[in-house]
Amino acid sequence: MNILILGPQGSGKGTQAKRIAVEYGVAHVATGNMFRAAIAAGTTLGLQVQPLLASGQLVPDDLTIGLIRARLQEDDALDGFVLDGFPRTMAQAEVLDAMLAGIGRRLDVVLELLIAEEICVERMLGRAREEGRGDDTPEVIAARLEVYRRETVPVVEHYRATGRLVGIRAERTPDEVFAEIQDTLEQVEERA
Ligand code: AMP
Repeated sequence: MNILILGPQGSGKGTQAKRIAVEYGVAHVATGNMFRAAIAAGTTLGLQVQPLLASGQLVPDDLTIGLIRARLQEDDALDGFVLDGFPRTMAQAEVLDAMLAGIGRRLDVVLELLIAEEICVERMLGRAREEGRGDDTPEVIAARLEVYRRETVPVVEHYRATGRLVGIRAERTPDEVFAEIQDTLEQVEERA
């Protein structure tokens, strides 16, 4: 199954994507994690993207697309994947659609985590205190949500138009959200 999960920062996207990957045996493909790993390893890519992550700005499309193109060809992604944090811009979405069409694959379902922005902000501030993530300061949180509204909401609308987008009520506990995702994925499997 090829799954895309969309939602603003703080919506629980990463947590849910990780659970989907484990439960359904698909690859968890998270560009944010890949960039953080590159930064931690001190690679050329890491050095390039570090200031962008620190300020909440997007990494340029060409770098991000190159990374994803290679990642989706790895063995563990051949049977299915859950995309988390990509695509974040319309240019990325168009490349993804073309890339999948080119290899005869498609997104089976697009999950949209529905949540009020104030709750995302509260959660991110909580996460900043617990994990010390450098991009969870109030200024950077505001910047990231602004980027989401400007660049990623059009991506949500693009996938809504395909008829394969399903809204998931994300203002609840992680277990409740995951139960709704499981119901949705079961319906998708039955349809397939
Ligand atoms: P995330 O962990 O998904 O919240 O991503 C953390 C940061 O990585 C973002 O704020 C961006 O700076 C960068 N990033 C992750 N995914 C993408 C993407 N698809 N396009 C551009 N930048 C990205």
